[in-house]
Amino acid sequence: MRSWFLLTSAAMLSASCGGKASHKGDSGRRVEVTQLVPNEAFAEEYFIEDLSCMQSPSAAVHTGLGIDQSLFGFQQQDGKVVVPANGLKICDATRAYPRASVEGAAKISQKHLSTARQFYDRLPSKTALPDAALMVLPTVEKTATADDGTVTRTVLVDNLAYAPSFGGEPMFIVFPKSRRAVKQGLWTDVNLWEVPWGLAHEFGHHVFRQHTGRTGLELVPIQSFELTAAAGPTPDDYWTAVNEGFADLFAFYTHGAKKGQLRGVDCFETNRDVTEPRFVTGDMKILDATVAAKFAAPRSGAPANCDKPSFQDVHTLGAVIAHGMDQLFTANGLVDPQAKAEALLGWAERLGTLAEGRPASAVTLASMLEQALTDGRQCATARTYFPVYAGTWSLCSTRAGTVR
Ligand SMILES: [Zn+2]
Repeated sequence: MRSWFLLTSAAMLSASCGGKASHKGDSGRRVEVTQLVPNEAFAEEYFIEDLSCMQSPSAAVHTGLGIDQSLFGFQQQDGKVVVPANGLKICDATRAYPRASVEGAAKISQKHLSTARQFYDRLPSKTALPDAALMVLPTVEKTATADDGTVTRTVLVDNLAYAPSFGGEPMFIVFPKSRRAVKQGLWTDVNLWEVPWGLAHEFGHHVFRQHTGRTGLELVPIQSFELTAAAGPTPDDYWTAVNEGFADLFAFYTHGAKKGQLRGVDCFETNRDVTEPRFVTGDMKILDATVAAKFAAPRSGAPANCDKPSFQDVHTLGAVIAHGMDQLFTANGLVDPQAKAEALLGWAERLGTLAEGRPASAVTLASMLEQALTDGRQCATARTYFPVYAGTWSLCSTRAGTVR
């Protein structure tokens, strides 16, 4: 997902979707077929509803709360931009556009981003967040030729992402829905960008960037496209897992901290619902020594899968962090979603202080999570949800100097 993707500094909401039980082994994000026309092969057939408006030189590029430009038509092949993005224009703001149109995707995406921005703007610790761009339905693909000459094309689909810096500004990216997802019955009658939680999650990455000052993170999808084969997690992978947990929490609080925000959304429903104590596999969302060791181990390269979330995936570890972190906030006497979101910003600010002037490798996951601990009342909860680290946190030692 990383090396060839030009949108190098984005954080995606991408769900690591492996498909349903009958489609095991199918990554859902990584589409491999013999050469076909990409738009027909991989994506729904999106169209421009109002071509005369889109081509009109006098029409303005669409903007919205926190979004200073909307773009479409971007095409990238093997790391090269083959068609630059065009300004997305909507001449009649009151008009209802079809869901499969470029305009329809942009309008619903803008709506959910605006909701997240309004929620953020009501928090006491809000700052002057920079505006971002919104790009809908890009075609981003990579080709590979096997020894026998077979061309394999991989296209990024079924995902949402946040790029900290694309063309000089932050960007939210809405990837197309794949035909394969349609065939598999995934996300029936829903597109990921239509799920309010989804773009609120991406907005959470924007907030994380602002409050931690960490700008160097790669493009982050809402679900992983694939696990990258590597010797083990990089220091940035730990930051990304924390970033994912933060974004899950931000989306959860934006929409009232209610259970069931992801009901009916394949891959996310149980795995990413902050209130759910277990993954769909039955595995507990507890950061114990086993989970920490799995994340720290060399990458197997196996695709992440909806049916069996991998503890090597930043989104899975992020979900563990989000579940435990919400419990920590509750243990501190917080109930109201806005109060919890304010505590979330406080954590991000302390993360920024922790990271300041240090290389990523000097900041451990234990120390990042410890920054969320502000009161000894949280310690019993910390031991329950973060048992591998809680004993090392100074606030939670039973006696001064004692490490449990
Ligand atoms: Zn994310």
